[in-house]
Amino acid sequence: MLSGWGRYPALDCRLERLRRCEALPGLLHRGTTLIARGNGRSYGDAALNPELTVSMLAMDRMRAFDAGTGLLDCEAGVLLADILETFVPLGWFPPVVPGTRLVTVGGMIAADVHGKNHHRDGTFGGHVESLTLAGPDGATRECSRTENADLFRATLGGMGLTGVILSARFRLRPVETAFVMAETLAARDLNETMALFEASRDWPHSVAWIDCLARGAGLGRGLMTRGAFMERGVLPPRLESNPLCLAPAGKLRVPVDVPSALLNRVSIGLFNEFCYRLGRGRARAEARPVHFDRFFFPLDRIEAWNRLYGRPGFVQYQCVLPKGEAPAGVAALLERVAAAGQGSFLAVLKLFGPTGEGLMSFPMEGYTLALDFPVRSGTAALLDGLDEITHRHGGRVYLAKDACCAPARMREGYPRLGAFKAVRAEAAGAPPRFASELSRRLAL
Ligand SMILES: Cc1cc2nc3c(=O)[nH]c(=O)nc-3n(C[C@H](O)[C@H](O)[C@H](O)COP(=O)(O)OP(=O)(O)OC[C@H]3O[C@@H](n4cnc5c(N)ncnc54)[C@H](O)[C@@H]3O)c2cc1C
Repeated sequence: MLSGWGRYPALDCRLERLRRCEALPGLLHRGTTLIARGNGRSYGDAALNPELTVSMLAMDRMRAFDAGTGLLDCEAGVLLADILETFVPLGWFPPVVPGTRLVTVGGMIAADVHGKNHHRDGTFGGHVESLTLAGPDGATRECSRTENADLFRATLGGMGLTGVILSARFRLRPVETAFVMAETLAARDLNETMALFEASRDWPHSVAWIDCLARGAGLGRGLMTRGAFMERGVLPPRLESNPLCLAPAGKLRVPVDVPSALLNRVSIGLFNEFCYRLGRGRARAEARPVHFDRFFFPLDRIEAWNRLYGRPGFVQYQCVLPKGEAPAGVAALLERVAAAGQGSFLAVLKLFGPTGEGLMSFPMEGYTLALDFPVRSGTAALLDGLDEITHRHGGRVYLAKDACCAPARMREGYPRLGAFKAVRAEAAGAPPRFASELSRRLAL
């Protein structure tokens, strides 16, 4: 049984591990459809195919690094965690990182992931110079902005549906230290939260946690954190001896599935109230140095935190709304969540910059909201309600998180879907050899 990070849905899939590129034609010649799988950190059904799911984790070699330009050439199964461990001590950092370092390079390209710096630096795919893609017959093609450019644009955010990414080339950026100067500011309502984002445009990294059960005058209240990598000269003396250190090992672990009965309006409401008050109290403090690991990947410190939502699993709903629609649209989404009483431990708001080049990339200029919900009776109806609001306000949902979206709404949210399908039909065979539960559910 295989699932994504949300543990919903869980499907009986045939799983094979790819160890060398040369073995791929053998898997393709079986005549079934297949989907590549990275580290399974997408939440829903994007990396599941009952017929054949191909794990890329053994394709984990870093092949070349140019210390003059920062260009890294690596196989698609390399974990972001390994890139950080190898290159941060040398003074290099990836241009874009998502909220967990337990993802593969292939997964970051296929979902065209965004980080806390999207408003300034766009998606990960925007920094990929070229990639090697295996097609339905196992033959490989180099794809870049100048070679097989349409296939390149379809593969960024293409959720594995254009082929199997075998390797990629992208540029790391120099950093002088492993520390981010970070500050957290409290906002009393949604207007204030959004105003803080606008006022923080010059900060490379920004993100806000929202108390999604607050209603009335406090709707959208939250804690906005912004940060920038520190230069060596401004490090406090206690950090000077090892400015490019890695975070100490050791973390907490959720040992068992939390009983669903403990996840209710009261417990989640108390959790949100506690976080807001604690954060508001601390927000008065000055900006302080925070290790990049804690700043970018706070959830990685709790191993198997997906068990917090109990055995039935959970879904993450992440949408983006265009700038002009975002204040009303995000307010409507939060009102719907608060009214349903199905609050989420984690509600995250983030400002996005312009749409990128990937035909199916998720970000568009505006605000993105992400919410977690345990799977239970009523969750599907709530998600449908949220989808309807997103759709009404001209937004779209993130396929790397989705498990439930209605196909028609999804299609309208992605205006370049037609162009994507045309490229996929040519590159992936007809009918396409690369398919997932997600692509079937949404008729991609
Ligand atoms: C705690 C947490 C925080 C997150 N924060 C963010 C965030 O801030 N921003 C963001 O954008 N995302 C975020 N995500 C989502 C995550 O970054 C993406 O889902 C990413 O794609 C997961 O990578 P993976 O290697 O685990 O891929 P998987 O989940 O295994 O696969 C994801 C997709 O990539 C495809 N794929 C994987 N490898 C290949 C390959 N070699 N060739 C072709 N296709 C391939 C799969 O078919 C699938 O469609 C977060 C996830 C978690 C669990």
